[in-house]
Amino acid sequence: MSPSHLATSILDLLFPRLCINCQKEGGYLCPDCFSLLEISDIHQKHPGKNLNDVYFALPYKGLLIKKLVRAFKYPPFIKELAQTLSEIIIAHFQMSSNVENFKKYIVVPVPLEKKRMKWRGFNQAEEIARHLANYFKLSLLLSVLVKTNPTIPQVNLSSKKREENLRGVFSIKNAQLIQGKNILLVDDVYTTGSTMEECGRVLHQAGAKKIIGIAVARAIPGED
Ligand SMILES: [Zn+2]
Repeated sequence: MSPSHLATSILDLLFPRLCINCQKEGGYLCPDCFSLLEISDIHQKHPGKNLNDVYFALPYKGLLIKKLVRAFKYPPFIKELAQTLSEIIIAHFQMSSNVENFKKYIVVPVPLEKKRMKWRGFNQAEEIARHLANYFKLSLLLSVLVKTNPTIPQVNLSSKKREENLRGVFSIKNAQLIQGKNILLVDDVYTTGSTMEECGRVLHQAGAKKIIGIAVARAIPGED
């Protein structure tokens, strides 16, 4: 056992991981509570203006998925929840028919600006993307799509205004790495789709071929 694994085991012994939902010992989400998630068993095609399709594992509805996402993205920032959230996406892929074969795709996370990264300590989309890349045996590309400017808050903006608001927020480096390539673009929650659409637009413009979005959950318009 490596020193870091040993340290993790000792920490687990001292501070056992508790299920976020029922406080049972063993992991951040116990199998019983995992089974309560309403993971969709069908894939409905969701093509956008700049995306060929988007996959969502479940609706962003109900307390449990919101608890998971909040504990991941906001204090206490449980980074390890990336694994649970990826398992939700993988469960959706395993359950549903009509899933594309993702061979020869490259995994790219929606990037985070530096200030946000410093506050959270990690990019939530990148952590989920890492698990998905592992699962599909695809490479993870972090050096191409970057966030150069912070997003002005999008709440209360019309979809047209959201689009304008996001122009110039993302940029591409090392474009040769994605020329003619198919991309799986990963984010945590798909809200209005404007962020993913804008990422899709700059990726296409830089020469990417097909772009498919993947998000854990899709927000329902009108729900908080
Ligand atoms: Zn539980």
